[in-house]
Amino acid sequence: MGFSEEIIRYRWDHIESLIMDKTPYDVEQALHTEQRSPDDLLALLSPPAADYLEEMAYLAHKLTIQRFGRVIQMYAPIYVSSECTNSCLYCGFNRHNKITRATLTVDEVFEEGMVLYRQGFRHVLLVSGESPRHVNLEYLCRVAEKLRTLFASISIEIYPMDIDSYRSLIISGIDGLTIYQETYNRKRYAEVHPAGPKRNYNWRLDTPDRGGQAGFRRLNIGTLLGLSDWRVEGAFLGLHAAYLMRQYWKSHISVSFPRLRPAPGGYRPESPVSDAQMVQLMCALRLWMPDAGLVLSTRESQELRDNLVPLGITQMSAGSKTAPGGYSSRPDTEGQFEISDHRSPEEVARMITFRGYEPVWKDWDAAFLKHSFP
Ligand code: SF4
Repeated sequence: MGFSEEIIRYRWDHIESLIMDKTPYDVEQALHTEQRSPDDLLALLSPPAADYLEEMAYLAHKLTIQRFGRVIQMYAPIYVSSECTNSCLYCGFNRHNKITRATLTVDEVFEEGMVLYRQGFRHVLLVSGESPRHVNLEYLCRVAEKLRTLFASISIEIYPMDIDSYRSLIISGIDGLTIYQETYNRKRYAEVHPAGPKRNYNWRLDTPDRGGQAGFRRLNIGTLLGLSDWRVEGAFLGLHAAYLMRQYWKSHISVSFPRLRPAPGGYRPESPVSDAQMVQLMCALRLWMPDAGLVLSTRESQELRDNLVPLGITQMSAGSKTAPGGYSSRPDTEGQFEISDHRSPEEVARMITFRGYEPVWKDWDAAFLKHSFP
């Protein structure tokens, strides 16, 4: 049971033609209604909505202030392994790429954590390729138990697991699950994932369901922009997030929209997304889901990230390294992709403050749970 059963109600081509048929009148209706329907989401993603970008941005800003205040939660990724059994065409860790790979020991992950802790981070995201031989459940539990002495919140962005494994991770101190479908277009999904366990579209699609059932406090989903038509991807992403909000109301749902960046292997995006289109997508998702978190990584340029702060972003990474050991011990390993914003966490925090927002390093403590549910 999961979103894979819900998604069969929506055909990619049909959603695409509904979006392309929207008129300026539909966009105005979508802008001025209180309760937005899926049809309004499609209107906000449509080509005519580009002429209403200023109004969309104003409304997105207003809604975000109402729901979240002027705060941006800061986090940083820790890459624990670049080993991978998959061959995703767009990824530097693709098993066919001849790169220097590494898997950190538990102590090395802790060292990486110490660097981030000293920089002020209290929320981290553990990232790895899909290689259970190198990164298995027991390893992840040991990493989590060690890191939770430093961090208030630890999320994972690793390969899909079953519910029991997720429960073990939660007991060990991991409270958030990030999993991107990459593309909701089944045909494209099969093309860019030619081999390896990741070929299983439905298993991946139902991962946030298993995470919600296991009890993760945060669920983060996303689509990799550049693989397919961003308007249709945005519609599926919005529908998926809204479904998760209905099903797992105890978990906070957030969405990411990473754009493809240069990576070892030299993959070129088939459907590039411009900055203006990225802004339209972000505003459309904010108007569709006022309570969802919107996450922006260092894949994006300094200039775009600065300008997006007031438009709906609620979480930002900073100072990121995308190679295992990149913060401390292994300067020789290669990263998953090139980042674009190279500023230090301190510089990013200063920019956020300068824009009238507060960078928040810690917005959660597991101790809260003990007080709420003795
Ligand atoms: S995207 Fe993930 S699963 Fe695919 S090759 Fe890269 S690390 Fe492996």
